Amino acid sequence: MRIDVLTLFPEMFEGVFSSSILGKASEKGIVTLNTVNFREYSENKHSTVDDYPYGGGGGMVLKPEPVFSAVEDLLSDGGSEEDSPRIILMCPQGETFTQAKAEELSRQRRLILICGHYEGYDERIRRYLVTDELSIGDYVLTGGEIPAMAVIDSVVRLLPGVLGNEQSAVTDSFSTGLLEYPHYTRPPKFRDWEVPEVLLSGHHGNIAQWRRKQALYRTWKRRPDLLKNRSPDKLEEQWLKEFEQGQFPD
Ligand code: SAM
Repeated sequence: MRIDVLTLFPEMFEGVFSSSILGKASEKGIVTLNTVNFREYSENKHSTVDDYPYGGGGGMVLKPEPVFSAVEDLLSDGGSEEDSPRIILMCPQGETFTQAKAEELSRQRRLILICGHYEGYDERIRRYLVTDELSIGDYVLTGGEIPAMAVIDSVVRLLPGVLGNEQSAVTDSFSTGLLEYPHYTRPPKFRDWEVPEVLLSGHHGNIAQWRRKQALYRTWKRRPDLLKNRSPDKLEEQWLKEFEQGQFPD
């Protein structure tokens, strides 16, 4: 996969792209991460990329020319139809980013993310350039850089070969449609708090069942909205009834 990020602050990505899972994925050649400072595509001598909004009002607006030119330059390196990238505008008005969206994007060969700044984008960028608009939540940040980092991290960790078995994403919260079950490690007793006996039993079937019930309970308690589109099997139906009746697992 190749990911290009259009930003006015490429230095913000240096640490993130070279550390932890993203750093390792780049080193292994699984992903190529690249930043483009679209100020370099400004057509005026002061290198400005923003201008006053037509109609007046506060705040500056990102001009269309530098953003279009930077994307078109990236696309001019050819590539097959298959490589035709998703062009993603980071934007609080976009579709809310989810694990399902991360999974969908992880199946693409190429992504281009556009980070805004200032009050907004010239609407022609939104209408005629991008394929997706993504928001990381209902709050407003100063720029699209931190949202872009969140999206890139969650996509790259899903690429085959990026996570080892010990960090598998398969049971991560949301991947299964549920929040993840609780974890414990040594010691078996810390202060007065003991690890649930079943986890020390070595009985794989019972452990799997305990985890499943815990994941369902945690989701029911914290994020019941996630259960709305779920078709529970018989066992889950029975557990959900128990929770409704106030019978909770330890
Ligand atoms: N005036 C804009 C509005 O009300 O929609 C907000 C602009 S915000 C200060 C500047 C930039 O930060 C946006 O263009 C976008 O790139 C980024 N941004 C801010 N919050 C975001 C969010 N929740 N998700 C994704 N990007 C966000």
